[in-house]
Amino acid sequence: MTEAAQPVRMFRKGLSLKHEVADELTAHYHSTLVDEVRAAGYQRRMGRLQLYLASEFGFCYGVDRAVDYAYQTRRRFPDRSIYLTGEIIHNPRVNDRLRDAGIRFLSDAGEDELALRPDDVVILPAFGVTVSMLLRLQQQGCTLVDTTCGSVLNVWKNVRQYARDGFTAIIHGKARHEETVATASQALQYPDGRSLVVVDRAETGIVCDYIRRGGDASAFLSRFAGAASPGFDPRRDLQRIGLANQTTMLMSESLAIGEMIREAMIDRYGDGAELDRHYRAFDTICSATQDRQDAIEVLLSDRDLDLMIVIGGYNSSNTRNLARLAGKRVPTYHIADANDLVSRREVRHRPVHDDRSAATAAEARSRDWLPDLPLVSVGLTAGASTPDSAVGQVIDRLGALAGQPEPAQ
Ligand code: SF4
Repeated sequence: MTEAAQPVRMFRKGLSLKHEVADELTAHYHSTLVDEVRAAGYQRRMGRLQLYLASEFGFCYGVDRAVDYAYQTRRRFPDRSIYLTGEIIHNPRVNDRLRDAGIRFLSDAGEDELALRPDDVVILPAFGVTVSMLLRLQQQGCTLVDTTCGSVLNVWKNVRQYARDGFTAIIHGKARHEETVATASQALQYPDGRSLVVVDRAETGIVCDYIRRGGDASAFLSRFAGAASPGFDPRRDLQRIGLANQTTMLMSESLAIGEMIREAMIDRYGDGAELDRHYRAFDTICSATQDRQDAIEVLLSDRDLDLMIVIGGYNSSNTRNLARLAGKRVPTYHIADANDLVSRREVRHRPVHDDRSAATAAEARSRDWLPDLPLVSVGLTAGASTPDSAVGQVIDRLGALAGQPEPAQ
């Protein structure tokens, strides 16, 4: 494994300023309205609107910690240039607040990672960075504040073990998502480490076909361009497989993908001891993601909802998955914030079933999203990168719209 070229200062457990930044964090991200809804059993009546809030929603422990560390970093180093490698979490408002606080983003136009100097401070985001980027930052001698979530580190540990033992890590995730890119890079710390990213069952089906019957290696590689590690050869690298996930994927889909690959390996190599020699798996969906997915299922089962609103960045994987779960059962609107509830008649949202990336998917505008019923039941949840303050603003906005007189047509 590669070692750092020179010693660097690395903060991994905060900067001992938690209490000093607590009031600022509360002012920016807390909501007394959300506290009230929680205290009232996760529901609130507002005019003709009955609101039901999921019992688990919003900031997860990893995001909470990452934002806290970023504020502590600003407080600890008021005179030094502070950078984030990219978005700290997938929430544009939170990222903009950090920009307003003077923290620069290496991913922004005009910034240059190679121009960093030893007295600069760099914050690593909750979903981590690649092994090569960490090495570069260490070589530049920067002070590093590592906010990589413990649940992501757990995945990395398993992927490294796969690589060490000669297993290819098949990662259920999005090949370009920062966390998945970083996870895949962990396999490369070993000479024979390999990885392959599959995004859904359809792609997994192609991999399973290859495991069972082999096929045209170059066609396989062009199908998985950008998703396979350098030098990947499906003839060699699909013989021993270990499963991993991006932590924010849909649990049910990850389980189904695991089962598909396990069955293909049984067909190819047999069951029992032989399977153990060729196949490994462990659950790497983080508990926060699972809790939010479970809570939305409970909400959808327990309440007769007319519609569901899911709040979160359009590029937030876990928010997208919450919206997909809800969208199977009721009309669902994935909005970025309260401003997207334009009026009683109009909502801006990211279509739930548009699987293009956030950069290419078109934002939709839908009419008549709030039904003209005497009582409308609205379910509400938020992704792991959405603070309570944003949830409170949406509740406030819903209350205002529910009380609005019918606009003239
Ligand atoms: S979603 Fe899970 S893995 Fe990602 S930061 Fe939150 S707790 Fe950590």
